[in-house]
Amino acid sequence: MRFGDITRSISLTSFLAMAMTTLNLTRLAALCFFLFQTSWLCAAALYPIQNAAILAGSKFDIKIELDQAVNLEDIKIQLNAEPIVKIVKVQPIFIANEAGKGSSIIYRDVQLNKAGKYSLIVQAPQTSLEVVWDVYSTGPRKVKNVIFFIGDGMTIANRTAARVLSKGISEGKYQGKLSFDDMPNMALIGTSGSDSLITDSANSMSAYTTGHKTAVNAMGVYVSRATDNLSHPKVETIAELIKRKTKMSVGIVSDAELEDATPGAMVSHTRRRADKPYIAEQLLASGAEVILGGGSAYFYPQSTKGSKRKDEINLVEEFKRDGYQLVFTKEELANATHAADTRKLFGVFHPDNMDGSLDRFFLKKNTVEQYPNQPDLTDMTRSAIEVLSKNPNGFFLMVEAALIDKFNHPLDWERAAFDTIMLSNAVDIAKNFAKTHPDTLIIVTPDHTHSGSINGVVNDAKPGPLREKVGVYADAGYPNYPKANVDGYPNKIDVSKRLAFFYGNYPDHYETLHPKLDGTFIPAVKGEDGQFVANPKYIQLQEDAIHVGGNLPSNQESGVHTADDAVLNAMGPGSEQFHGFMDNTEVFRVMVESLGLGRQ
Ligand SMILES: [Zn+2]
Repeated sequence: MRFGDITRSISLTSFLAMAMTTLNLTRLAALCFFLFQTSWLCAAALYPIQNAAILAGSKFDIKIELDQAVNLEDIKIQLNAEPIVKIVKVQPIFIANEAGKGSSIIYRDVQLNKAGKYSLIVQAPQTSLEVVWDVYSTGPRKVKNVIFFIGDGMTIANRTAARVLSKGISEGKYQGKLSFDDMPNMALIGTSGSDSLITDSANSMSAYTTGHKTAVNAMGVYVSRATDNLSHPKVETIAELIKRKTKMSVGIVSDAELEDATPGAMVSHTRRRADKPYIAEQLLASGAEVILGGGSAYFYPQSTKGSKRKDEINLVEEFKRDGYQLVFTKEELANATHAADTRKLFGVFHPDNMDGSLDRFFLKKNTVEQYPNQPDLTDMTRSAIEVLSKNPNGFFLMVEAALIDKFNHPLDWERAAFDTIMLSNAVDIAKNFAKTHPDTLIIVTPDHTHSGSINGVVNDAKPGPLREKVGVYADAGYPNYPKANVDGYPNKIDVSKRLAFFYGNYPDHYETLHPKLDGTFIPAVKGEDGQFVANPKYIQLQEDAIHVGGNLPSNQESGVHTADDAVLNAMGPGSEQFHGFMDNTEVFRVMVESLGLGRQ
């Protein structure tokens, strides 16, 4: 049994009878409601949470968690002052005592079709709970296509560094802009989750794809006390909504593992983003027409060399059976894209995360020699748009530049800058498409930020120890990176005057003030006591490297995300709704409004 507890359904008539009893909220109940919102003192809870905004007609689960085991007959549930059965027609599941913590009631796949305020009030012995939701509808569909770019972890300094390297700057003026710099609409986005100021990519992407807040490591669910990762109360994702309500196509592209948090949150409902075999299965189940990225290890059965599955499920075979063209190299991707009959495309190009553009184009480090035939985000974006746009009903494409975050974590700002340039190039492809398809909404946004900033210019010609080579204010002047190539990348980064880019949070590490030409920076390694200490490799390589004592707890091996606002840019119909400061759940709202997914 899924919940490991006794479950039984409540008959509709008994529910109706219970709910008919008059409600009378007690002082104690109000206190409990207050406490449950602000702390863990009262374990009782309702999901969706207080002030949740819910798209009319979207599917979601209601869960009621009481902090003691009670008789079903003693629970009264009212929605908008009516017995809940008047509005919610699905049969509830009753768990008499969930994980020894009390009784729970779950309604799966609820749909509220009428917009308005909804108040859910639950009365049980010694407990009363209330939440209010805002159910909103949308007007008719305004756009044919949506292309949603996630620059994972892209902070403002990543953009600035990419612009300096790619476009150049002199006498205070940049010689050009990144492709998303000149979009007409922008907003600051708040990224915090339901449980914490600091989000991770599961939680923050889930807010974009469902319009609901959730907790760190969770996607497509509210985090309840369920003991099974997959049993928490679910909310529908935009990919599921599109597949259920329209004839549009869906595309999912990432240069991380496709089972990573951002692509995973398009299609999955789990408490733990680490459920990667499950996420791989959900990608297949989603019916998305285009799926391109890394992470092949979770698509092959465990008997295949390099597989990370614990079963014999062969998802690659299943994609093939479902009519997908399968591609595994850059060349195969190009060929399949140009084949007139390609309508469904599945491509995996790396067992793990793919390599970044600094390594692929210049340094040939990390795993580039092992996997020399990887496409990059621009190739995948171009292919995805070409295949998806064959559908006359339009498409929704999510493209993640995942490696910006993967390089920000280990404080490797040059690699993050190169992948920000690659994101700019990928967005350029979408903008070109929009020139001939103006009914396309393009959104470019980070899911959260990192702590980096540009503080000056390191000048090797300055005398003295390494630290004295950092020029600030007038002493900084300008860096001397060579003019970028046609793709926007400078062919040399270890120049004599380079950006002094520092992160605001970090583990112990050695600051070398030089790019890491031999592979991604590994700032800290586990010491004898299990705590992370500065990686001695860098003092061995460069004897004047500066030891920097970490400002994060010593169990952190890399930099962490920040709560700083993310900067969103957008263009096309509907993009005018982005302005000022917005919550990340409102990005979902703009997308579903543009697509008319909550039309009454
Ligand atoms: Zn991250």
